[in-house]
Amino acid sequence: MIQERINFLRNELNKYSYNYYVLDNPLISDFEYDNLYKELEELEKQNPIFITPDSPTQRVGGISTGFKEVKHKYRLYSLDNTYNYDELRKWYEKITNEFGNNVELVCELKIDGLAIALAYKNGSFVHGATRGNGIIGEEITQNLRTIKAIPLKLFENADVEVRGEIYMPKTSFEKLNDENILRGEKPFANPRNAAAGSLRQLDSSITAKRDLSMFTYTPIIERAKKQPTTHWEGIQYVKELGFKINPNIRLVKNIEGAIEFCKEWETKRFELDYATDGVVIKVNNLAYQNELGFTSRAPKWATAFKFPPEEISTTLRDIEIGIGKTGAVTPVAILEPVNLAGSIVSRASLHNFDEIKRLDIRIGDRVLIKKAAEIIPKVVKVCDSNEHNNLPEYDIPHVCPSCGEPIKEVEGEVNLYCLNPNCPAILRAKLEYWVSKEAMDIDSVGPSIIEKLYNLGLVQAPIDFYKLTTDDFLKLDLVKEKSANNMYNAIQESKKKTLSKFITALSIRNVGKETAELLVNEIPTLDAFKSVSIEKLSEIDGIGDKIAKNIYEFFHNEHNLKTLDEFKTYGFEFNNSIQIRTDELAGKTFVLTGTLQSMTRDEASDIIKSKGGKTSSSVSKKTSYVIAGESAGSKLDKAQNLGVIILNETEFLKMVGME
Ligand SMILES: [Zn+2]
Repeated sequence: MIQERINFLRNELNKYSYNYYVLDNPLISDFEYDNLYKELEELEKQNPIFITPDSPTQRVGGISTGFKEVKHKYRLYSLDNTYNYDELRKWYEKITNEFGNNVELVCELKIDGLAIALAYKNGSFVHGATRGNGIIGEEITQNLRTIKAIPLKLFENADVEVRGEIYMPKTSFEKLNDENILRGEKPFANPRNAAAGSLRQLDSSITAKRDLSMFTYTPIIERAKKQPTTHWEGIQYVKELGFKINPNIRLVKNIEGAIEFCKEWETKRFELDYATDGVVIKVNNLAYQNELGFTSRAPKWATAFKFPPEEISTTLRDIEIGIGKTGAVTPVAILEPVNLAGSIVSRASLHNFDEIKRLDIRIGDRVLIKKAAEIIPKVVKVCDSNEHNNLPEYDIPHVCPSCGEPIKEVEGEVNLYCLNPNCPAILRAKLEYWVSKEAMDIDSVGPSIIEKLYNLGLVQAPIDFYKLTTDDFLKLDLVKEKSANNMYNAIQESKKKTLSKFITALSIRNVGKETAELLVNEIPTLDAFKSVSIEKLSEIDGIGDKIAKNIYEFFHNEHNLKTLDEFKTYGFEFNNSIQIRTDELAGKTFVLTGTLQSMTRDEASDIIKSKGGKTSSSVSKKTSYVIAGESAGSKLDKAQNLGVIILNETEFLKMVGME
C-alpha cells in the first residue's frame, strides 16, 4: 500500500516536473506540487527502505570532496567550424559527391554552454560527466541531478547515453551577478562561466539553487523500444523519453536550406534567453553518418557555422545624458562606430551611473561592447590600457541637462531622476511615447515634428495633439498641405484606439503595453479605473504592489483626472475598446505566433476579439487554436506537444470569413 502510494506520488511529481521544466508548461500550482512533494518526503522518511536514487526527493545530495576523472564510454568529438557560407557549401559538396544530391541535413542552434554526457540504465539516470577533453571528463552526477530539466527517470526503461548542453538563462545570469555584486563578490563574465562555476560546486545544494537548464542532443541508443534511422527521428525520440530539446531545430533538404537557417538566426538569436554562438549542421541519415565517420578530432558528417562575434572593443567618445518619460536620467555611451554582429553600432547602454563608477568608465577609454538579448548593445568593461589612468574620472551630473533642476535619488530605484514635472525633456519624451507604435501609434508624427511643435509652444502635453488644426501643422518648416492633412487625420484616427493602448500611452510608471493589457482585461472602462481600489489592482495577476500603487496614484491625481475628462470631450471612444460584432468565436482562446503576411498580430487579435474570441500570449491546454505565421517558435512546438489545433494564416482567414 505504502509503496504503491510512493510510486504514485513519484510518477505524479515526475510528470509535473517534466511539464514545468522540460515543456515549459506548468500543469499545477507550486503549492499543489509542494504538497505532493512533502507527502512523498514524509512517506520516504518513515519508510527509508523504499527510497531509490531516481525519486524526485533525491535531487540534492551531499558535499563531495572533489571530482573524479572518468573515461567516456563514447568519445565526445569537437566540431569543425567556419564563419563562411562557401566553406559550408564545400563541406556539403564532399558529402553529395559520395551520396548524390539532396542529402538531408538537420540544423540545430549551437548553445554556448557546457557539454556533458549523461548515461541512463533501465530508464534511470546513473552517471553524468563533463566533456573534459572528449576522452576523459569529470564525474559530476551529484550536481547534474539537481538540474530539473535532466530527468532522473525516463518514460521508458531504456539504456541510452545522451549529450547535452548545460546553460544558464541570460535573465538568471544577470540576477545572479546582481546578487554577487551586492554581496561584494566578483561577477561572472558571461552565462557560460556562471553555468560552469555552478556545476563545479562541491556542495550540490549550491548548484541546486542556480537556475541551470539543459538542451539534449545526439542520443546514443543502446537498448530501447525504437531504433531511429535518422538524426531527426532520434531527436524526436529523445523528446518522447522525457528530455528537453531545443525547439529551434529544422530538417532541411540541402545546404542552401541550412544557410537560410543560419542567416535567420544570426539576428534572431538576440531574442533568445540563452546564448547561442552558431548553428550545428548534421547529416540526417544515420547510415550515411556511419559511412562518413570521423577525422582524428571531429565527425565528417557534422560541421558548425559560427556567428560573427557579439563582443568588440571601440573608443568611448562621450557620455550623453538621456531623460526618459518617467524622468529617469540615464547615461548613454557615444562610441566610435564599429561593426558588431552584423550591424554598425555608435551608441550603447551604460545602464546607470553606479555602473559607470563600478567599471570606472572614463570618456576616451577603450571599451568592450556586447550585444545581448536587448537590441541596444551595452558596455561591458573597460579594456586595459595605459591611457586609462591619464583620463579624468567621470563626474556624475548633479543637475538635469534639460531643465537645470537637481537630479535626485528615488528610494528603491537604481536610476537617478529629474523630478521636475515641467522638465522639457520629460514632456518631450512623453509626447514621443504617445505617438509610438506601442502606444497610440501615430506614425506620421515623428520626433522631429514633435520637437518643432513643442518649440513653437503648440504641444506641451499629449492632450494638445487633439487641439491642433491643419493650419497649425502648416506653421512648421517644410510641412506642406498634404502631410499636414495626413498628420491631422492620423491624430483624429487615434481617438478610436483601444483602451489598453490609451492606458499604455499615459506613461504611468512601470505600466507598459503588456501591463496595460492585463489591466484592461479586468478593468474594461476608463471610469472603472478611477474607482478601482488598490487592493483590487494588486489582486490582478501580473500586477505587483508597487505597480498597483503607481496606477492608483495616477488615477487619484487631480490634474490627471482633469486631463482624462478633457480627452473625453475630444471624442475618444476607448470605453468599449473593441466592438464585439459577432459571437462566432465565443469561448475560443487563440495564441498568435510568428509573422503573418496579410496583417500584424495586433490586427489579427482585434479580429478575434471582434468576433467574441479571446487571445492569450502563452499556449496551454486551454488554448483552442494556435495561429502560426512565418518563423513561429517555441509556442508552435508547445502546441504540437499539447495537441492544440494549429492553423496557418490562410486557414485562420477562412475561419473568420476573410478569404
Ligand atoms: Zn529636467
